Amino acid sequence: MKYFLLFFFFVFTSEAKVVLVDPGHGGDESGAVGHLDTKKTRRVFEKDLSLRLAKKVKEELSKTTTSYLTRSLDRLVTLQERADLADMVKADLFLSIHFNSSPNPKGHGFELYYLDNNSNAAAKKVENAENLNLKGEELVVNQILVDLVVQQTVSHSKELARKVHEKIRPIVTRYKVVDRGIKPGLFYVLALSKRPGLLVEAGFISNPSELRTINQEKYLNELARAIAAGVQAYLDHN
Ligand SMILES: [Zn+2]
Repeated sequence: MKYFLLFFFFVFTSEAKVVLVDPGHGGDESGAVGHLDTKKTRRVFEKDLSLRLAKKVKEELSKTTTSYLTRSLDRLVTLQERADLADMVKADLFLSIHFNSSPNPKGHGFELYYLDNNSNAAAKKVENAENLNLKGEELVVNQILVDLVVQQTVSHSKELARKVHEKIRPIVTRYKVVDRGIKPGLFYVLALSKRPGLLVEAGFISNPSELRTINQEKYLNELARAIAAGVQAYLDHN
């Protein structure tokens, strides 16, 4: 009985960590657009696919910790509003969920980004797509803020990326989605959130064959479980 009470005391007094899961884009801002068929009649928008995956990640995380979504509907949320929500819910981690796109229809693979101000050319290219439609205050995200946030978060974000990468690697490999690894990137949503975090690019929506894989409920379920397991592994050690 004593141990039973001790268990409850521990569970209910230990402070649960808070993770804010951020489905990219929304509302008028559709993000990348892909097609499931050659006639281009079956369109898939990044905003919808990212919401599907983000909801699953949140559901998985909620089994072990406290988690919230920046949006649960198809609506426009500015990058600043996403960052403000992180303050409001006192998030310890920020997890932004996106899908990739390339002018080359053969572009493919899964990538994990953490905030860094390193001028990696490949990373810069992707940064632009996710930094579009900056509004108001977001336009003045300055180098000083970015440098400061990088300095405060980079080691934690890298470790979070490594933990998540360990868990997603076997899943994406099994689905024949190329593992493009962990990369530095200058994503304003990560800078504005001012806390350790990741931006996930969970496959290329612009590649019709990859889109058929990543649009599967089964892939999204397994990926969500793996992402949540990686986040939990990070939280257990920090
Ligand atoms: Zn995106």
